[in-house]
Amino acid sequence: MKTLQDLTRPNIWNLTPYSCARDEFKGRAASVFLDANENPYHAPLNRYPDPLQEEVKAKLSPIKGVPASQIFLGNGSDEAIDLIYRIFCEPRQDNVVAIAPTYGMYGVCADINDVEYRPVLLNEDFSLDADRLLAATDDHTKVIWLCSPNNPSGNSLDRKAIEKILKEFQGIVVVDEAYSDFSAARPFRLDLDHFPHLIVLNTFSKLWASAAIRLGIAFASEEIIALFNKVKYPYNVNQLTQLQALQVLDDLQHINLWRSTILNERAHLLPAFAELPICRAVFPTDANFFLARMTDANAIYHYLVDRGIIVRNRSRVQLCGNCLRITIGTPQENNALLGALRQYK
Ligand SMILES: *Cc1c(COP(=O)(O)O)cnc(C)c1O
Repeated sequence: MKTLQDLTRPNIWNLTPYSCARDEFKGRAASVFLDANENPYHAPLNRYPDPLQEEVKAKLSPIKGVPASQIFLGNGSDEAIDLIYRIFCEPRQDNVVAIAPTYGMYGVCADINDVEYRPVLLNEDFSLDADRLLAATDDHTKVIWLCSPNNPSGNSLDRKAIEKILKEFQGIVVVDEAYSDFSAARPFRLDLDHFPHLIVLNTFSKLWASAAIRLGIAFASEEIIALFNKVKYPYNVNQLTQLQALQVLDDLQHINLWRSTILNERAHLLPAFAELPICRAVFPTDANFFLARMTDANAIYHYLVDRGIIVRNRSRVQLCGNCLRITIGTPQENNALLGALRQYK
């Protein structure tokens, strides 16, 4: 097994991080803060926020079933994705392997960081072939990107296949569980203790209905979280976001209600959608969206745009020919979609 030091870029392993005023003094007892050159007026937003977001993590920890010391919070999942490249991947030397099709940011961040990105096709039914993925790795592969439930296909990847990758691959395995709240499958964040090189991503942007505040989550070993904290911007999550996150975390009742409403709508919308004459297939989904193969995705997409209904046209994505990706909306929105498509000629 490679050690975490073997996997980490030497400049990052040896980095002395920036030490900010709020890092150096952490006690709650003080009442006079003259250490950070802030304006003393206009409380509470005059103060720098907690760089490690400890209050948010303390609330999040029991909800997610992961100790606060194994949580990183970032400016969207996007920040965690970018940090994974910056921590582990030496530009023009290392590479990463990812399932395809999947979430586009893994590939974009690879390009930005000048790291070779190796997409490996899923099977036709979007299931995962662990051996094919492992065969694409070599000694310079630092990260394998998995997404379950996967975007844009919606299905959960087979747990046994993911475990095989976790056991056989020497490097970092990321499982992006942005949509796991909509799935009955056991989330991998609960198994961090078995897999020291596992990073699980979550987000406030989907079930937690807070895409606007930009708050993403990474769960990993304390050692990996320490690397994230070393490399991130000192105040990467602003105070307005932290305050709003605390409010959301106090309102789990709403979140549970949203989940059951969305799952109920999903159960009604999918069979009705599958019966449309212009729908060839609806793929099984564990998420708050579904992928559907249509007779003519481009024409149907533009027809919907003309009626003020926007879905995602995925027809140019590998394995997704003639496919639209459709988010579950309110009952009214879903009915508007069905109504419009029933009139399509
Ligand atoms: C929507 C989504 C995210 C969320 O990204 P944020 O930057 O947290 O908004 C992450 N991963 C996948 C696969 C997604 O579809």
